[in-house]
Amino acid sequence: MLPDYRPEPLLDYTKPENAALMRAALDRVKSQLGQTHPLIIDGQPHTSSSQFATINPSRPAEVLARFAQADVEQGDMAVEAAWRAFQTWQHVPASERARYLLRAAAEMRRRKQEFNAYMILEAGKSWAEAEADTSEAIDFLEYYARQAVRLADQSHLLTQNPGEQLGYYQIPLGVGLVITPWNFPNAIPTGMLSAALVSGNTVVFKPAELTALIAWKMVELFYQQGIPPGVLNFVPGRGSVVGARMVAHPLTRFISFTGSKEVGLWIYEQAAKVAPGQKWLKRSILEMGGKDAVIVDETANLEDAAQGILVSAFGFQGQKCSAGSRAIIVDSVYEHVTNRVVELAKQITVGDPDEGSHVWMGPVIDQRSMKGIMDYIEVGTQEGKLLFGGHHIETPAGGYFLEPTIFGDVPWDARVAQEEIFGPVLACIRASDYDDALRIGNSTEYGLTGAVYSRDRSRLERARREYHVGNLYFNRKCTGAFVGVHPFGGFNMSGTDSKAGGPDYLLQFMQPKSVAEKL
Ligand code: NAD
Repeated sequence: MLPDYRPEPLLDYTKPENAALMRAALDRVKSQLGQTHPLIIDGQPHTSSSQFATINPSRPAEVLARFAQADVEQGDMAVEAAWRAFQTWQHVPASERARYLLRAAAEMRRRKQEFNAYMILEAGKSWAEAEADTSEAIDFLEYYARQAVRLADQSHLLTQNPGEQLGYYQIPLGVGLVITPWNFPNAIPTGMLSAALVSGNTVVFKPAELTALIAWKMVELFYQQGIPPGVLNFVPGRGSVVGARMVAHPLTRFISFTGSKEVGLWIYEQAAKVAPGQKWLKRSILEMGGKDAVIVDETANLEDAAQGILVSAFGFQGQKCSAGSRAIIVDSVYEHVTNRVVELAKQITVGDPDEGSHVWMGPVIDQRSMKGIMDYIEVGTQEGKLLFGGHHIETPAGGYFLEPTIFGDVPWDARVAQEEIFGPVLACIRASDYDDALRIGNSTEYGLTGAVYSRDRSRLERARREYHVGNLYFNRKCTGAFVGVHPFGGFNMSGTDSKAGGPDYLLQFMQPKSVAEKL
């Protein structure tokens, strides 16, 4: 009997005793850098003719690890190994599969600061953001372990038919290809992998290249729990090469993807093609981008709203799919709120998160991303009024640091108000009234998260009905969903309408089988 699920408590690293734990873990992790890691196919390590390296975005010359880069033949091998392993893993009872997750959760909890340290170094997360990421990973393991047991046998849901004994079982799909992004480099891969595995599928895992080391530490933890060979295959490599090949493989049964809209749409289209020898229709579970907004009306607590806008826009440098990259503020309080957000932005500490918990914003993930964000800042300067920031912050080590950047009086249909920038850039939009604010809120092609700050109950109720986002928050920031508490996922071009960390999520990795036996 398992105790009820509860989200993992977050440690406060401003406390000296917790800071000492984190500092010690960073030192330990630094002594283990510089290794080369293989692919793992069918439980065996494989090298490859080409390699790639991951670096520290605060100090780009610092190589953290090297990885074998899978070629297309190795991609095929991994899918075929997963197919063989599926023949037995699918019949392992859900309760037994769940125990691998629970053991992994216990171990990750014991090594929490170590996992945080990898993210501080490889993803440029602040200490608090890294803590939230690892805690969420633990939550996914604990939550999906419980859900798998609950969902396995749903026979009790059927209408009884006298003279028949009825069964309704959720059975796994087959081989799943799990493709992940770099921005929640522990939580997202842990959640997507554990969901697929605990549902009885076998997995080929292609992590984001930029954060392959964290992904490696996480799969290593699964291997340490004794997960059978072939059940979880680790295949880092180029998405457009090996990723694309495995999407097309006839033995791939489903693709679970989190990443950009562009790649998600491409996978959706490719997955719809039936390859020779393929016996099923592939399922695509896609979580994509966002252009999320915080709406503020004239009845709101304006200080809370300004704080909420700031944290939603600039937490982890704005590199969250849930980031509140638009602030939609009604005209009568627009000046007050934007001025306050600018004041608060001036107090943000930008720097190398390795230095301590006082660093609130680290670097953006890489040079390419920095260039893309700077290009958008250029566009924003034409489209609106630069109120704060807009520059690259030069450091001796050449880190990818950007100022938190705020544009004011941005038209609702401007590019910086419609396109996902995925960096620390906030567009403040003036709405004539609450009606206009809601309309603007719904005006993008996405529908992931949104927040409304208002004290007017009827307006909140209207937003509850009309603001079309998967995760809607009232009088709080639009980031920071907890597993099991705020099931997470968006509408429209934000994805396939699923909810990670929700009671129905695992059903996407399963298919129901109905059995009737005449008595
Ligand atoms: P990305 O789309 O560039 O890459 C995601 C993954 O897809 C990587 O592993 C990449 O190697 C792989 N890939 C690229 N091309 C491929 C192809 N042709 N075939 C198969 N795989 C391919 O995204 P990213 O930059 O890593 O992540 C940022 C994006 O992710 C943002 O748009 C963000 O909003 C989104 N995101 C969404 C959610 C959500 O829950 N909705 C969560 C986190 C991130």
